Amino acid sequence: QPAVSPGLLKNLNPEQLAAVTLPAKPALILAGAGSGKTRVLTTRIAWLMQTGQIAPAGVMAVTFTNKAAKEMLTRLSAMLPVNVRGMWIGTFHGLCNRFLRAHWKLAGLPQGFQILDTQDSQSAVKRIIKAMNLDEERFVPKQVSWFIAGAKDDGKRPGDIDIGDDQTRKQVEIYQAYQDQCEREGVVDFAELMLRTYELLRDNGPLREHYQRRFRHVLVDEFQDTNRLQYAWLKMFAPPGGDQGVFAVGDDDQSIYAFRGALVGNMSDFERQYRVDTVIKLEQNYRSFGNILDTANALIGHNSRRLGKNLRTEAGPGEPVRVFESNSDFAEAQWLVEEAQALHRGGLNRKEIAVLYRSNAQSRVMESALFNAGIPYRVYGGLRFFERAEVKHALSYLRLIENPNDDTSFLRVVNFPTRGIGARTMELLADAARASGRSLYQSVAAVSGKGGANLLAFTQLIDALRASTQGLNLREIIEQMLQSSGLTDFYKLDKEGADRLENLDELINAAEAFVTQEGFGKDAVALPVDEHGEGFSPGNIAPGLPAAVSDAPFSPDAETGEIMSPLAAFLTHASLEAGDNQAQAGQDALQLMTVHSAKGLEFDAVFITGLEEGLFPHENSLSDSDGVEEERRLMYVAITRARQRLYLSFSQTRMLHGQTRYNVKSRFFDELPEACLKWLTPRNQGFGSGFAREYQNAWERGSGLKSMVGTGRVERPAFTNPPVPQAMLKKVDNEHGGLRVGKSVFHTKFGEGVLLTLEGKGQDARAQVNFGRHGVKWLALSVAKLTPID
Ligand code: ATP
Ligand code: MG
Repeated sequence: QPAVSPGLLKNLNPEQLAAVTLPAKPALILAGAGSGKTRVLTTRIAWLMQTGQIAPAGVMAVTFTNKAAKEMLTRLSAMLPVNVRGMWIGTFHGLCNRFLRAHWKLAGLPQGFQILDTQDSQSAVKRIIKAMNLDEERFVPKQVSWFIAGAKDDGKRPGDIDIGDDQTRKQVEIYQAYQDQCEREGVVDFAELMLRTYELLRDNGPLREHYQRRFRHVLVDEFQDTNRLQYAWLKMFAPPGGDQGVFAVGDDDQSIYAFRGALVGNMSDFERQYRVDTVIKLEQNYRSFGNILDTANALIGHNSRRLGKNLRTEAGPGEPVRVFESNSDFAEAQWLVEEAQALHRGGLNRKEIAVLYRSNAQSRVMESALFNAGIPYRVYGGLRFFERAEVKHALSYLRLIENPNDDTSFLRVVNFPTRGIGARTMELLADAARASGRSLYQSVAAVSGKGGANLLAFTQLIDALRASTQGLNLREIIEQMLQSSGLTDFYKLDKEGADRLENLDELINAAEAFVTQEGFGKDAVALPVDEHGEGFSPGNIAPGLPAAVSDAPFSPDAETGEIMSPLAAFLTHASLEAGDNQAQAGQDALQLMTVHSAKGLEFDAVFITGLEEGLFPHENSLSDSDGVEEERRLMYVAITRARQRLYLSFSQTRMLHGQTRYNVKSRFFDELPEACLKWLTPRNQGFGSGFAREYQNAWERGSGLKSMVGTGRVERPAFTNPPVPQAMLKKVDNEHGGLRVGKSVFHTKFGEGVLLTLEGKGQDARAQVNFGRHGVKWLALSVAKLTPID
């Protein structure tokens, strides 16, 4: 048997070691935040492979966010000399996508099916509501979309839904019409990816057996947040009573997706249905200092429905948790900017600082403060790159090259830039398409007159684009599309088009990065699955299936071996990225995200902002105790993200959704141990005292903040920044081929600049350089020529 590399198991405590080396049978790891669940799961995969118990192709591991999946792949490749890219490790959606790419025909999908992101799917629903002549006030597109997604997450097709009232009946009709439309266009939404995969496995015995034989080990992180369909899906790959190793890790205290159908009960169901005889508990926390952990433990102790477990740390108390009260959201943001800057000056990388908030809408004020201060930051969630209008327009053209019957894309760009195609023409076209059951593209000939001629010109443009981009690489395809579609010219003429043109350039960069990073290119079919034998000897494959289902990130067609075009693969990537809280890696930027998106992550310093009644806990949750308990778990997740330093802040007033709100501090403050806290502002002000009341009076007089400027009240309270402890200072790697942080460099295109950051190794090495006039840029060192200047 191959030896286990000495480092692999060395740093595990006895319980972790036991979990990592469990025999291949169902197991449940139930443990609190930061106790090493994810680490155990990853190490187990490495251990199974190193000891020769399993081939890379025999493992499936699933988690919730792209960021978490990538993290898992990175950690694994550090432990193992294999190409982990080809392994079935990813998000639920990512794995479903891969599965359906290989079995599109069996799943009843067109080969190049595209994925609708949430926005697109909502606009498709909206179109249907309109076409059905329904009242949009009564059938709010967003709500109907949630209804459909919720039904799918429950595994339900339109025919499976109990029709109680009229409202439901109509919604089911919309669901059906939406489903028909998706079929016609050859597109799927996120929930559909899961449901299709589930149904195909459920209905196709040989295929199911094939995968069950293939995956000897199935591992799930964050199991507490699985919903009904995800759990059912899992059972298709590894049913109870089978002989596979099923390894589930989770923390009931971190269940935060009940509002989307997550069932914490899946954990006890799992224990029962899989006859788990080993539930391992991990009680040592390796992430946070004592004060942070005590704060988290005290808070979650106020919940009644818990499976019960303890967390301890050997790290010592560390610093107190800092609490800050501000007069306004604006002041809170100002304070935050200064504090984050101080931490950064003290030697902390910006990406090690997270700013967390309960709702997306809260980020705007902080973003503008950060922007004004010139601090790089990245928002996870909110309007992501792939969701910006100009990027979506460009993607729509690309989609139409791949699949002209994609009505959503057709509608988005048929008259953008303008081509004299008006609403009347589009109505005629939509009617014709509906009457014949065909796509808009296919129905163009049915419209006569000037509008019809313009429509025809548009379809000819798309056809010509398709013809002229044959054989080009991805960069060339996008460049050609930007020219021929008129997008570039349009934004050149637009007063505010400069930013948008930059984003379109960024799209080309994203495509190039995709080709190199995702290995989509020459060697797309990396890691043939039979390379390691196990699980894939010919005798081991279900009858009627191809000898090898490839493991490339974008699997070739299972029957013909045909590989998806790089363009189609990139479009898929764009949809999946848009659906997740994922941003481009690289730049050292402050991390802004909702608490939901922070699940599973950790940072040296964490700010939890907007801790006010109605905001966190959220007002929608206050009516029942389940709701408040979920909010408390959310707060527990937030607190336990911090390694060394934690800040909690709240504000007496806040502008939200166009209204000023007057707040009292969150009830959670009353549940935290006073001994762990350090108030940066005088304690016990709160709403009703001092500033806030004054502010409200001013507001009611109709003068608002203006009348208060100069009163000295709109200022941040004085306090001094404590020094950053030595433990937080990270060693900065500044040896990269003679380059040094802080020194000048020369670049052939951008000229002279100052090197700000160096990161990554080998192919992934990158540098951040301030080129003055040309701005601050990130460069891939494998491509960019940077010469040091002495
Ligand atoms: P969460 O519930 O937040 O997802 P988790 O239980 O998955 O947390 P991990 O992220 O795996 O926890 O681990 C938390 C941190 O503790 C990581 O930085 C990890 O590397 C570290 N860690 C885990 N186990 C050990 C150990 N035995 N020795 C040293 N560090 C450890
Ligand atoms: Mg984890």
